[in-house]
Amino acid sequence: MVENERLRQEMRRCEAELQELRAKPAAPCTGCEHSQESAQLRDRLSQLQLEVAENKGLLSELNLEVQQKTDRLAEVELRLKDCLAEKAQEEERLSRRLRDSHETIASLRAQSPPIKYVIKTVEVESSKTKQALSESQARNQHLQEQVAMQRQVLKEMEQQLQSSHQLTAQLRAQIAMYESELERAHGQMLEEMQSLEEDKNRAIEEAFARAQVEMKAVHENLAGVRTNLLTLQPALRTLTNDYNGLKRQVRGFPLLLQEALKSVKAEIGQAIEEVNSNNQELLRKYRRELQLRKKCHNELVRLKGNIRVIARVRPVTKEDGEGPEATNAVTFDPDDDSIIHLQHKGKPVSFELDKVFSSQASQQDVFQEVQALITSCIDGFNVCIFAYGQTGAGKTYTMEGTPENPGINQRALRLLFSEVQEKASDWEYTITVSAAEIYNEVLRDLLGQEPQEKLEIRLCPDGSGQLYVPGLTEFQVQSVEDINKVFEFGHTNRTTEFTNLNEHSSRSHALLIVTVRGVDCSTGLRTTGKLNLVDLAGSERVGKSGAEGSRLREAQHINKSLSALGDVIAALRSRQGHVPFRNSKLTYLLQDSLSGDSKTLMVVQVSPVEKNTSETLYSLKFAERVRSVELGPGSRRTELGSWSSQEHLEWEPACQTPQPSARAHSAPGSGTTSRPGSIRRKLQPSGKSRPLPM
Ligand code: ADP
Ligand code: MG
Repeated sequence: MVENERLRQEMRRCEAELQELRAKPAAPCTGCEHSQESAQLRDRLSQLQLEVAENKGLLSELNLEVQQKTDRLAEVELRLKDCLAEKAQEEERLSRRLRDSHETIASLRAQSPPIKYVIKTVEVESSKTKQALSESQARNQHLQEQVAMQRQVLKEMEQQLQSSHQLTAQLRAQIAMYESELERAHGQMLEEMQSLEEDKNRAIEEAFARAQVEMKAVHENLAGVRTNLLTLQPALRTLTNDYNGLKRQVRGFPLLLQEALKSVKAEIGQAIEEVNSNNQELLRKYRRELQLRKKCHNELVRLKGNIRVIARVRPVTKEDGEGPEATNAVTFDPDDDSIIHLQHKGKPVSFELDKVFSSQASQQDVFQEVQALITSCIDGFNVCIFAYGQTGAGKTYTMEGTPENPGINQRALRLLFSEVQEKASDWEYTITVSAAEIYNEVLRDLLGQEPQEKLEIRLCPDGSGQLYVPGLTEFQVQSVEDINKVFEFGHTNRTTEFTNLNEHSSRSHALLIVTVRGVDCSTGLRTTGKLNLVDLAGSERVGKSGAEGSRLREAQHINKSLSALGDVIAALRSRQGHVPFRNSKLTYLLQDSLSGDSKTLMVVQVSPVEKNTSETLYSLKFAERVRSVELGPGSRRTELGSWSSQEHLEWEPACQTPQPSARAHSAPGSGTTSRPGSIRRKLQPSGKSRPLPM
């Protein structure tokens, strides 16, 4: 109990301390790292307090139990004492009675007779006493058992007491531990508070120092501002004056604005008018420029000569064979690409043409030379390109080429497509192609359903003097694929017609006629240009081969048409009144593409080998003769009345060709007269175009 009391006191002391600690203000360090720890400690403390309270309850329960047990023990001891006292009394009484009995026995022995009696009595009494003794012994036994029992109980209680002592000791140890923890937490808290206090003081000191420095700067600034203020005052005064002035102006501003708006509106209107007139002027200038460009282009072509003659020498091939006959007889001037030297029968002969392409020249090189002519076709000029020369000199190679390396025909159409596409925003163009051949003075349609049919060249019945070829097929082409189809179709037609195509083609003129019709979307101006690409029949002379029969007839026809071509060009050159276009089908067909404003290019194909020198000489002589001929300066084939007379005057040809020229093979009304300087009638679509062969 004393121990319990002590524990209670200790507990009270602990509580008081706890209370005290709790009463202390919470540390002001909210953000510091210890606050977390202290919170943990606080949690732990409250946990411990809970445990202490539990333990207290337990302790009080134990105390109660001990009290009860102590009470019971006291009671049992009291009863034991009573029993012992009773027993002692009984023993005393019995020993006294025993002693009395012994005395009685002794006295009775002294008085013998009655003694027997007495003995008897004593014996009777003694049995009674013995019974009483055994009874009291039994009671004694019972009491001793009870005492033993009580002792057992006492022992148990002592054990309980001991265990409660142990528990108390444990509790005390726990309390001591809690106390030490509390003390530690308290110490930590104190330390933290101290360090926080130090931090706070330091921060205050630093802030104070900083504030002092800033204060100083502010003071300085203030002084500056004060001086500024002093200087600003006059400025402010002037500003106020200005402001007042502006205020006055603003009051008058709407009026001013209205006036300004009015004048600006007028100016804008004027500017728009000016821009409009400028635009008109620019448009006019643009059109003039366009005309000028075409004129320049034409002039360029004219300067190069309306009839240009170039020579192309093919390389020596396997077909030329070997030996002295196959040696090279053609040389070039390294400094002048218009000179060609020929070694003929041991004599050197030289010719000057517009350009000479050596055997090294590529298809593209040759095409480059004719490119300008082809583009002029888009501007409405008629163009003829002839390949002239003996069989095997490379005419077909130059005009048609090979599928891998196409010649002028395909390249020209490709160029036309791309040019037309470039102009597509302003112009609408249609390109049509016809293919024909002239064999033995008979004109045939290579793209027609019946290639055998002879075609006629007719005068238009409308009295316009134009020519046309009824039944000649025209295909409209839009892409390279279209051209290839057309070429293929023409080729198939020719192959099926003639068993020996090579021989046949060398004795006939093959014509590819490309017509480019354009409409200027903005002005309605119409142009029609025709490009005639002619692979002529071989120019080799008849007498040489001594041919007979059909071969002779063929040769005569070829000779006739080639010399007619020469005659026409000669007549044009010498500006004769009469040009014999009608002397051959070829010149008659190409009449409007040869006369007046048209441009002609002749590619004279030359074989370089020794055995062909006399034919080469003949071809080059023909070329030189043709080259000196001049056609009139180009004029456009246009059908618009908007052309000013001034412009037409500018286009007046230098060389007037009095005879009427006409379109050769277009359908009636589709062509234009080629009379230079005249305003042409509107072009009608030919209506002969057929869908492409598939
Ligand atoms: P033509 O049509 O004048 O009778 P070809 O064009 O058929 O002559 O040419 C005869 C041969 O010479 C062909 O095999 C052709 O491929 C070849 N040939 C002609 N010109 C050239 C050239 N510039 N480069 C290579 N081969 C050529
Ligand atoms: Mg050929």
